[in-house]
Amino acid sequence: MTTQKRILTGDRPTGRLHLGHYIGSIKARVELQDQYETFLIIADLHMLTTKNSKDDIARVDENARQMVLDYLACGIDPEKVTIYLQSAVHETYELNTLFQNMVTVPRLERLPSLKDMARAAHKEEMPYGLLGYPVLQAADILLPRAHLVPVGKDNLAHVEITREIARRFNRMYGDVFPIPEALVPETGTLVGTDGQAKMSKSLNNAIMISDDAKAVRKKVFSMFTDPNRIRSDIPGRVEGNPVFIYHDTFNPNKAEVEDLKARYRRGAVGDVEVKEKLTIAINNFLDPIRERRAVFEADSGFVDEVIYQGTLHTREVARETIIAAKKAMGLTGVWNRISRRAERRRKRLAKAS
Ligand code: ATP
Ligand code: MG
Repeated sequence: MTTQKRILTGDRPTGRLHLGHYIGSIKARVELQDQYETFLIIADLHMLTTKNSKDDIARVDENARQMVLDYLACGIDPEKVTIYLQSAVHETYELNTLFQNMVTVPRLERLPSLKDMARAAHKEEMPYGLLGYPVLQAADILLPRAHLVPVGKDNLAHVEITREIARRFNRMYGDVFPIPEALVPETGTLVGTDGQAKMSKSLNNAIMISDDAKAVRKKVFSMFTDPNRIRSDIPGRVEGNPVFIYHDTFNPNKAEVEDLKARYRRGAVGDVEVKEKLTIAINNFLDPIRERRAVFEADSGFVDEVIYQGTLHTREVARETIIAAKKAMGLTGVWNRISRRAERRRKRLAKAS
């Protein structure tokens, strides 16, 4: 019997993960896995809200496996963390249906994130499922009755919906759910290699966790720097310069970074040296991750086993929650009474004949 509080966190299986994901979420998950019982969801049902073609679904298998390899490589411990496939936990659909009546359409329509997602997915009109994205997310969070939800800032409003649903449910039917807290990382969003505000695979400005040393080098050398600095003897801007943001984030040699910054400001260092040292820093950061990734990759079937066992375990936990929720609502009682009466009748008829 565990007394640890629970975390629900995860990602949609749309591809491999990048350094932005590492900074924005994986790092915190690794740090928290000892203190909390963590459920890591491969959110393929959430993917369906914007990508539901047969081809998209056919890619879930491989994407999920690559994503889990990224997690394990980064230090997620499969002995401590339950990694599961959302669509294979049937209780998700059940709780989602029950929660749909705990929130209004105008409340969901006010969320700017959903309109952004619809636009990004080139949807002319809002799909019903996408409007319900935060309700499905509430089902994910509350199925394992999680207390803590580490999310990006853009997702805070969704966790607020979960809190409202949990409060309303508890008030209407009785105490079943904890009111979960969101945990937003202090480190902001990691910029892209092109200087755009967010590193994102869809923007093609991402350094992937699974990139090899050569790919990292190529991406770093194509990075944006200070656009006004056309020669290396012109003083340059360090603040907001993606190359230095990455140095601050991934280069543990602070003296080297300060020296590069000082010389950059004076116009006494070339981009090549700055980028060479950044390449080394990122590759040093990724090397142990690559080694672990190779080990897990070589163990054929291991990742499948992790997802399989995690999903079976989540089903058990989810079943307990569904039973508690339906019991609190009185739904279990309805079915029990009907089936008891039907059974009594059957027995009566059997006796009479
Ligand atoms: P991408 O944006 O690369 O296509 P995605 O759409 O699968 O990936 P998001 O839904 O944007 O991923 O983000 C998943 C999680 O990773 C969120 O918690 C988000 O805050 C975090 N994240 C993604 N990109 C970054 C980034 N550049 N910096 C910090 N955190 C990030
Ligand atoms: Mg995205």
